[in-house]
Amino acid sequence: MKHRYILDMESILSKIQQHGYESIHIHHTGGSTHDEMGEGARAAIRMRQAIKNEHVNNQNWLDIGYHLLLMKDGIWVKGRSFHNRPASIRGHNSGAFAIAVVGNFETDKLQGEQLEEITKLISELQRVGYEEDEFLLHREASATACPGTNITREKLFSYEEHS
Ligand SMILES: [Zn+2]
Repeated sequence: MKHRYILDMESILSKIQQHGYESIHIHHTGGSTHDEMGEGARAAIRMRQAIKNEHVNNQNWLDIGYHLLLMKDGIWVKGRSFHNRPASIRGHNSGAFAIAVVGNFETDKLQGEQLEEITKLISELQRVGYEEDEFLLHREASATACPGTNITREKLFSYEEHS
């Protein structure tokens, strides 16, 4: 099933460059763990809808907070319109692009296709000029554990090592 919300890395990269974001925020979704999630495009679209419902109905945001979701099987899913500022990190949303790695990384491990995709995207963004300090893990700017103990800078910037 090909769906308009499922994106490939090439189109993500070109859109990020077009928009010229000043910073890239990294979150996890928290809550549900990988064991509780399905795989494939259908599960990805359902997950997007569940997160959107939570953000719109419980947080009272206008739309899903993040621009992009990364599923456990490495599928990228479009969230909020790339034209709009995210509901990402209070005080840091202007000029920001917000990515959520789907899972609860207090217990889930960042591995397999999900690790491959996020580290590759970060590495490609560095190649087109983003500096390491233009990436922000949620907990670096707020009192939160997000994106979870198992998502560290060391892991996110490790693409060369495991490719
Ligand atoms: Zn967060």
